[in-house]
Order: sequence, then structure tokens, then C-alpha cells
Amino acid sequence: MTTAADPPHAAPTATSGTPDVAAAVSAARSVQPAWDALGFAGRRKALQGWCALILRRSDELVDLIRAETGKTADDARLEVILAAHHLRWTAAHAARVLGPRRVSAGLLMFHHAVTVAHRPLGVVGVIGPWNYPAFIPVGPVSAALAGGNTVVLKPSELTPRTGEWLAATLAEVTGGIRVLHVVTGDGTAGEALCRAAVDKISFTGSSATARRVMAACADRLTPVVIEGGGKDAMIVAADADLDAAADAAVWAAMTNAGQTCVGLERVYAVDTVADRFLDLVTERAAALRVGDGPDADLGRIVLPRQLDVIAAQVRDALSRGARAVLGGPQSITPPYVAPIVLADVPEDAAAVTEETFGPVLVVNRVTSVAEAVERANASDYGLGASVFTRDRGSGRGVAARLRAGMVSVNAVIAFAGMPAVPFGGVGDSGFGRVHGPDGLREFTRTQAITSQRFRPPVQPTSFRRRPGTMPTLVRLVRTLYGR
Ligand code: NDP
Repeated sequence: MTTAADPPHAAPTATSGTPDVAAAVSAARSVQPAWDALGFAGRRKALQGWCALILRRSDELVDLIRAETGKTADDARLEVILAAHHLRWTAAHAARVLGPRRVSAGLLMFHHAVTVAHRPLGVVGVIGPWNYPAFIPVGPVSAALAGGNTVVLKPSELTPRTGEWLAATLAEVTGGIRVLHVVTGDGTAGEALCRAAVDKISFTGSSATARRVMAACADRLTPVVIEGGGKDAMIVAADADLDAAADAAVWAAMTNAGQTCVGLERVYAVDTVADRFLDLVTERAAALRVGDGPDADLGRIVLPRQLDVIAAQVRDALSRGARAVLGGPQSITPPYVAPIVLADVPEDAAAVTEETFGPVLVVNRVTSVAEAVERANASDYGLGASVFTRDRGSGRGVAARLRAGMVSVNAVIAFAGMPAVPFGGVGDSGFGRVHGPDGLREFTRTQAITSQRFRPPVQPTSFRRRPGTMPTLVRLVRTLYGR
């Protein structure tokens, strides 16, 4: 176990066992009351200071992310910008979203004053993935902290130093109060955190691991937020700006070498424009550079076993009649994968139904937008989606019919850059939300306090009520609501 006191570039520590996780949770719990006592204003100051420090030392963080994930400099820079953007919003808006607010007591209870407030849960465990090792954890970590909780973060075993850097920089601005602790190690450390005495787990990772997380949390009835995988679809309508749609599709499918939970993996293009759209996508994707050089657009595939998944899906699709419009199995040269565009892939092929997590884009043609919606929704996942049409009104109508947590019209992944927008999915993509007001409330318990202002003339909730009280009440309710 390492804590926020360790130097930013400490080497990854050995696998944490349960005792270390328990020690981290207990250390986090011991400082939680002091952190809560700072109030919204004090925590806002600390979190804004953290944001400023991250930005001042962003080159350091970019280098660290690149060293651990192999992503391109621009992908790492974008990640840091997004992390800071969300952190700043969370710090600034926690008091408004979580602070006490007056609520109407309603006609029958008009003699009460009511306030509803959001109290911290205590210690929140955050389990993060490797693909965005700064941006992803900063969402739940900052929301939990802003609400008055302290946090134990378990980063992916592939990106422990990024997690440690975040904790170390936060400790610099909290005057020695260590509100973010880090436990490093593999899945066993994650499981130990789920079984530890934490008050909530925020998990981001694959849907398969999410099931294990929930099972481990069940023992203590620890609540969970699950941000799982995705198989995001784009719908291209007949009237779409094809140039814009193709540009967006290539970026969303290939950024971070396709290793993005809300990355684009499927396109449903209406027949009349499908060929032109495919031409534009192919032209743009073919121009992308792969490697670790300064000009590279796509870095490496981080998990070696993912290369096998990508290869198997591509081969399976081709053997079942799909067309390789760009690249193919030969595009896979470990640890890199050059962009692959497949067309006319059978809807039950793994390349359509399972998360690929690589720079592979499936483009299938449909007869209508209605068919596109049906196919997009025929997935166990439901994370993000996008719609391209010149008719923005109809685009919003299509978006509303999509079974996805977030939908962008005439853009892709736009929601991820909007800190006030809740982020999360449905089905195998998980439940609960990070980011925005919903993400802030996620790490709190709602508390209502009612306080009687005066004794009412009619008192139904007493054994000493008068004989006429209940008939009067019944008449009143019938008059008010009985029509
Ligand atoms: P994994 O599910 O493999 O791992 C996620 C985290 O869980 C890691 O820290 C991992 O540790 C840990 N872990 C592994 N086993 C257990 C366990 N039994 N109990 C508790 N924790 C455990 O996901 P990846 O890191 O490979 O990330 C990629 C996946 O994450 C993709 O499916 C992607 O779609 C999804 N994702 C979802 C996002 C969303 O917001 N919905 C955002 C980003 C990614 P270790 O790595 O050390 O094994």
C-alpha cells in the first residue's frame, strides 16, 4: 500500500493484500471527519488548488500517462485537460448540488419546515481502468471528495504511478490531510477493496469484472456504481453531413487506438449514403499514422491479450462474409494495430456484438433510420451513441429512442467534455452515474429533516384526535384530489 505521502514518481509497490487495503481504508476513515468539517468552501478551495497544481505540472502527468499506457502525446494531453475540466466543475458546484435545500411539506403537512441535504457516506473505494488512468478516476474521486468523503483508489495494475501521482499532488494542497489513499496491485487488491469496510465502490472497467465486483460487495451490502464496457453505435441518416460524420466516426473509433469505453465501434448508415460515407471514412482512416513517434495518431494496444480479441473478431467477421474495406488481420503488428474498417458484417458476429477495444470500425448499411435504431439497440451494452442528420429536431427524436446513457447529435463523445452532464450506461454498460449533479449525489446519503413549525388545529396523527378529525380529512382530500 502506498499513501499520498509517497513521492510522485515512486515505483509501483508490490501487490497489496487485504491487510494493506484495510490499513488504507482505516487511514482514510480517520481523516474523514476533519475533511468533512472543512465544509463545502474549504473543500472547494483544496480541490481547485489541486486542479491548478495538476495543470501547472501537466507535462509531468502527460509523460507518466504515456509511459504507462503508450498513448500519443495528444491523447494524453486531452486526458489531462478533461480531468482538470471535470475537477474544476465538481469543486465549484458541490455546494449548490449537495447543500441543504428547502422542500415543500405539502398541503397536509403545511405546519412543517423541511430541508433535504446530502451527507457524505464516509470512505469511498474507487477502482479504475488503465485506458484513461487520470481522467476516469478523477471523476468519482473528485465527486466523493467534494461531498465530504475520503477515498481509497485502486488504479489498474498497469497504471499505478498515475494513481500515486494524483494522490501525491492532492496531498500537497491539503496541508498534510491525506484524503486520497492509493492501494496498488492486481485484481486481488481490487477485490480486497470491495470486501473492505468502505461505504461505496465506484468501479470502472469491463462488464465481466463488474460482475465479480458486485458479488464481492454483496457480502457487506456495499453499494456500487458500475461504469462498464460499451459497443457504441453511430446512426448516419440520408441527410447527414457525410464529411462531418466521417471525420467524427474516424476520430471516435481510432482515438486512444480504439481503447475508449465510449469509442465508436459500429456505424449504421442509411443505404443511399452508405457507399459515400464508407469512402470518406476509409480515406481518413488510411491517412492515420501508427506507432510511438511524435507524429503518431494511434499508439499501442496496451493489453497484449486484447490483440488476440481484435484478431479473432476480424477473422471471424471476414470468414462470415464481411468486407475488409481498410486493413484486415495484416494490420495487427503487435503491439500496434493500424485502422481496420469492416463493412457488411453479420449482426450476430462478435465484431458487432462484443466490445472490440481496438481501432476497428464496423460500417453496416440499413434501409432506414428506424432500422438503424433497432440494430443499435440490439446490444447488451448501452453506453454512448451518436446520430448524424441535418435535421437536428429529428436527430434529438432518434436520440431519445436509443437505449444509451448518452447520445450526441452531429458530434461524437461530446458529453465526455461536459462536466455538468451525467455519464453512465444501461444494461451491461452498468448503472449509476459519474459527472454532473447525479455524479455528485452518487457518493452521498440523502437526509431529510422535517421540523414542526406549530401545532395544527386538526391533528390526525395522534390517538387523542377528535371524532370529527378523520371525516374532515377525508372530505378535504376528496375535494382536492378526487376529481
Ligand atoms: P478490467 O475490468 O480488467 O479492470 C478494471 C479494474 O478492476 C482494474 O483496476 C483491475 O485491476 C480491477 N479488477 C480486476 N479484477 C478485479 C476484481 N475481481 N475485483 C475488483 N477489481 C478488480 O478493465 P480494464 O482495466 O481492462 O479496462 C477496460 C474496460 O473498462 C473496458 O471494458 C472499457 O470499456 C471499460 N471502461 C469503461 C468506462 C466507463 O466509463 N463506462 C471507462 C473506461 C473503461 P488490474 O488492472 O490490476 O487487474
